[in-house]
Amino acid sequence: MVDDGETPIVLDLGTGALANLRRHVDYDRIAAVVISHMHADHFIDLVPLRYALRYGPRRRKQKLPVHLPPGGLTMLRTLVSAFAHEGGEFLDDVFDLHEYDPSRALAIDGATLRFAHTAHYIPAFAVRWERHGASVTYSADTAPDERVVALARETDVFVCEATLRHGEVEPGIRGHSSAADAGRMARDAGVGRLLLTHYGEESTARDLDEDARTNFAGDVLVADDHRTFDLG
Ligand SMILES: [Zn+2]
Ligand SMILES: [Zn+2]
Repeated sequence: MVDDGETPIVLDLGTGALANLRRHVDYDRIAAVVISHMHADHFIDLVPLRYALRYGPRRRKQKLPVHLPPGGLTMLRTLVSAFAHEGGEFLDDVFDLHEYDPSRALAIDGATLRFAHTAHYIPAFAVRWERHGASVTYSADTAPDERVVALARETDVFVCEATLRHGEVEPGIRGHSSAADAGRMARDAGVGRLLLTHYGEESTARDLDEDARTNFAGDVLVADDHRTFDLG
């Protein structure tokens, strides 16, 4: 979540994210949810969020805007059709669903979001959030990619995935990065700080930090549940 104090924007909502998120912002205060790609570990908690918005004690005056990648609407509706006995309203009763056009900027209140294709197994989009001269770029899932580097150019904070363990080689077509890859992209993009995320239990914060620093001389941070970072 990127929170400017007025319009908290949630970038992806994977497994367990809703429960964690509620410690920082409750579901009635979220300004929008933006989904990078339709892998379950990036969007599945839209389902419990729908139940919270429908039946929870906190009510919103307006539906919650949810911005999905192209094709995401059909996939989400197909998924929930298995248990959405309430019919077609199951999502639309609480969400204002959109598919974003990744070639255009998306304005959400005072913030501007831009997208770039990533190198992944399905269509996936990195997201750059900007407001009042501050910027955060989130890599989504990606192998090292020039388009992500271009999107992240001189961003304040580059939130980059670090799925691959030290020395791990992906078989076949690549779709993920290591912390060392993330460090290289951070260096090439000239970012202020690198925040590593989307890593497995086997990777320790120290390993991730060390691997990223082999390529990047700036600040390296390792994300974890409930860690927050001040953009100021
Ligand atoms: Zn993915
Ligand atoms: Zn993922």
